[in-house]
Amino acid sequence: MSMLVLAGVNVFDPASQTRRTNVNVCIADGKIAAIGDIPPSFEGARRMSLAGRAVLPGFIDLHVHVVASNANLGANAAMPNFLAALRTLPILRGMLNRGFTTVRDAGGADFGMCEAVNSGELRGPRILSSGKALSQTGGHGDFRQRSDKLDDACGCLGRQGAIARVVDGVDAMRLAVREEILKGASQIKVMASGGVASPNDPITNTQYSEDELRAAVQEAQAAGTYVMAHAYTARAVRRAVECGVKCIEHGNLIDEETARLLAQRDVAVVPTLATLDRLSERGRALGFPEASLAKIDGARSVGRQALALMAREGVKVGFGSDMLGEELHRFQSDEFAVRAQIVGNVEAIRCATNVAADIIREPGVRGTVAVGAAADLVVVDGDPVEDISLLLGQGEHIPVVIKGGVCMKESGRLVEPAL
Ligand code: ZN
Ligand code: ZN
Repeated sequence: MSMLVLAGVNVFDPASQTRRTNVNVCIADGKIAAIGDIPPSFEGARRMSLAGRAVLPGFIDLHVHVVASNANLGANAAMPNFLAALRTLPILRGMLNRGFTTVRDAGGADFGMCEAVNSGELRGPRILSSGKALSQTGGHGDFRQRSDKLDDACGCLGRQGAIARVVDGVDAMRLAVREEILKGASQIKVMASGGVASPNDPITNTQYSEDELRAAVQEAQAAGTYVMAHAYTARAVRRAVECGVKCIEHGNLIDEETARLLAQRDVAVVPTLATLDRLSERGRALGFPEASLAKIDGARSVGRQALALMAREGVKVGFGSDMLGEELHRFQSDEFAVRAQIVGNVEAIRCATNVAADIIREPGVRGTVAVGAAADLVVVDGDPVEDISLLLGQGEHIPVVIKGGVCMKESGRLVEPAL
């Protein structure tokens, strides 16, 4: 049994919103065994002296695309599989370095990657994969060019770099959901409205028929999981909620009535705000067409208002970064800063810890520093509740990251796997 003591730390538990100063966090068998004094059974445990540092739960990012090493998602899908997989590795390492111990992939990650991380062969956060996101023809996940003759959209299925696959019709939807679950998806992702990173589908479009959405929800429920849906407008969000979707991605253009509906039905929302700031700054240089750039600007400022509105209406809001392309992934933690400006530091931390754990259906297990919870923890130089900037950048102020009771980062560097 591996035992570890984080000695003399200040604990902030976002779930209970309580602080404890100068305590010991004792870890055994991947879980938190004690907080406070060191139990006699911990004699002989490894002890890390971390006086004055803060301990928080490891962060959970509910919207990432770990395979998106190229912001042009069409080009990303066309990349040879080996190259696409290889380029995922620094993205995963970067996330762990920044203190993310769990990420929910919103399209692209496959079971092999999850296994490679879980077995310790790869350094990265635990991945909850959606497999390929499901998109209708001409939808947000259909990256084919406008042309007289369309390429075969099903070509995306065996593509490591594709974040989505094209599926049309109720029966095909049922089959696709079952396939993604067979392949190891933790939850199902559907594209239920137009988006910003795709040039051919206006953001105001709704996507998928209600019958198709309901079929996806039924199949996910049958397998004991849920559907998360990409949706920007109030109309698309309402439709998805009425069809049984449990988590809305983005939601920038929702209205008050829709926010109330979300709160009433206990449907979560994962806004992704920082990525729009970065795309609007760098989108042109990254080769985004004018149509996409206009959509990005249209969604940006209203996204902040939507977050304030959802906070007022008591909607369950989780943390999502949605960074695309090698250049942008490093801005993942900027989402903390954007949230903090609108809802404050504590809420910014809660949405990436206990609220996120609730959304991935692991309340009390992750996102909390409590006895019995998983030992997914970060150590911060200073107090992020007072100064959120300590969480930004590349984890420069996060010297230690522990995942499942194992030290993944120590003295500011990732610990390499022993192969
Ligand atoms: Zn999306
Ligand atoms: Zn996304």
